[in-house]
Amino acid sequence: MKFLDEYRDAALANDLIKQIRGITSQRWVLMDVCGGQTHNLVRSGIETALMDVLELIHGPGCPVCVTPSQVIDFAIALSHRPNTILTSFGDMLRVPGSHQSMLTARSAGGDVRAVYSPIDALKMAIENPSKEVVFLAVGFETTAPATALALLQADQEDIKNFSIIPAHVRVQPAMESIIQSTDNRVQAFLAAGHVCTVTGYQSLESFCQASHTPIVVTGFEPIDLLDGILHSVRLLEGNQVRVVNRYSRNVQRTGNASALRTVESVYEVGDRPWRGFGNIPSGALKLRADWKRYDASEKFAPYIPAATPDDQRCRAADVMAGRIKPMECAAFGRECTSESPLGAPMVSSEGACAAYARFQTTSITPLERSE
Ligand code: SF4
Repeated sequence: MKFLDEYRDAALANDLIKQIRGITSQRWVLMDVCGGQTHNLVRSGIETALMDVLELIHGPGCPVCVTPSQVIDFAIALSHRPNTILTSFGDMLRVPGSHQSMLTARSAGGDVRAVYSPIDALKMAIENPSKEVVFLAVGFETTAPATALALLQADQEDIKNFSIIPAHVRVQPAMESIIQSTDNRVQAFLAAGHVCTVTGYQSLESFCQASHTPIVVTGFEPIDLLDGILHSVRLLEGNQVRVVNRYSRNVQRTGNASALRTVESVYEVGDRPWRGFGNIPSGALKLRADWKRYDASEKFAPYIPAATPDDQRCRAADVMAGRIKPMECAAFGRECTSESPLGAPMVSSEGACAAYARFQTTSITPLERSE
């Protein structure tokens, strides 16, 4: 705990806040692209403590939230298929599809089970040889290596009753899409430390130069976040456009070579729609041609339902693009609550709306609230 405590030190946090205030000449707009960072910014009170000098907005940092409802509808359809077990991470099961969530589908007789990892889903397939076990594989580049490892193991052991719904997404194309939008307000990014642990930040350098947007690779603890904000403001105030790595205890410029090799052996980059964003070029990881036998959307294509529009009351797209804060959605706290969510950002443990519903007050001081 000593190690973590160093990154949650209240005196150091207040000193960093003073430094940020001392060098800020205008209300810069900074965006984080990681649900874990969003939650900690709100929970620790950092956002509130700096709101008069900086605008901290939250991007599409929740992979569960950007999974299209058609993908969830497909998973639900498979859960009702005879001799099929549908698996995914716990918070994914609560996310509404077009008409219902996977949890609701379970109460209606679908075989839906929560797992902690794709390897758990593969084990379930090995233990249930008469059933098809499908894993809904969501996540950023951070979780893709675990899915790739499960597929490599399935191949090695010649497991034929296991498949995945490939729904892994890539963060950088979404950052590019935000910067290119006509109503973009982002002036600097806090890049997601966990994603960069796998991918590195080399490819962010050309994006940073092309978009004239400083990027600071940032960790998750309150001190990490304040340090990332301080360095972003320094770059902005100094009119410097470059990538700074402030999460060097975990992130190397070229990433984790072994994890990247594992992912590349199974996946290739492809386009796909993000919920609320539409098609994002190169925004997905798709299974390579020789791994399609594990692709549930190929194996069970007739079960793929038609795409349907999302609930118009939910402004998830505006929240995830940083155009509004969750409280500006008319449904926040009314038709949409933690107990009865309308949209994915209220359901997911990484969703921005869930962060504000749980933690946001206007009176908190930094690090006052521990949980
Ligand atoms: S508060 Fe609820 S309805 Fe509004 S954007 Fe967030 S998830 Fe959607």
